[in-house]
Amino acid sequence: MSSAPISSGQKGVTVWFTGLSGAGKTTINDALTIKLRDRGVRLEVLDGDIVRTNLTKGLGFSKEDRDENVRRIGFVSHLLTRNGVIVLVSAISPYRNIRDEVRDRIGDFMEVYVSAPVEVCEQRDVKGLYAKARSGEIKQFTGISDPYEAPLNPEVNCETHNETIEESVNKVIAKLEEMGYLPALVAA
Ligand code: ADP
Repeated sequence: MSSAPISSGQKGVTVWFTGLSGAGKTTINDALTIKLRDRGVRLEVLDGDIVRTNLTKGLGFSKEDRDENVRRIGFVSHLLTRNGVIVLVSAISPYRNIRDEVRDRIGDFMEVYVSAPVEVCEQRDVKGLYAKARSGEIKQFTGISDPYEAPLNPEVNCETHNETIEESVNKVIAKLEEMGYLPALVAA
């Protein structure tokens, strides 16, 4: 299903960032949010960590719970998207099938694969989670002791070990423009 343009002219879309912990989803998302707000875009951010303490509180990290987490984020994203909002989702969302299910349901959807080798993510260890995964304190940690299924055909690929944050952000913006969700900036 596709969302109709609303009176403001803004067409909604869900931009779904998937990738390992520490790959750079939140970092790119934060920088993108600033740029899009500067352009007067109406947007909402659904960040995995925040979602898990609210919308999906109580869910764990089994495949079933991870899929349910993604399904609920997808449900809210769909509601917002069809009301003309640009929704930026950051979630590891390791399973391809459920990401594709959400994509099909929302229709206006863009997948951004944020990647870096697991060794790089582990070296960054932004939240100290990799150390805990290695020591066994955290079980079922994606990339270490749990699977991650990379997207086969993402709209955007951000290799954060090879490109700057700004390059990644610009790629997403260019794709939003190309797909007609963001008017291109006209040079003055
Ligand atoms: P995630 O949300 O995927 O778990 P974060 O955004 O929290 O990851 O952490 C990514 C870390 O990698 C941050 O400390 C960020 O500064 C760093 N980093 C280094 N280079 C890049 C890059 N090109 N793009 C995004 N993040 C990068």
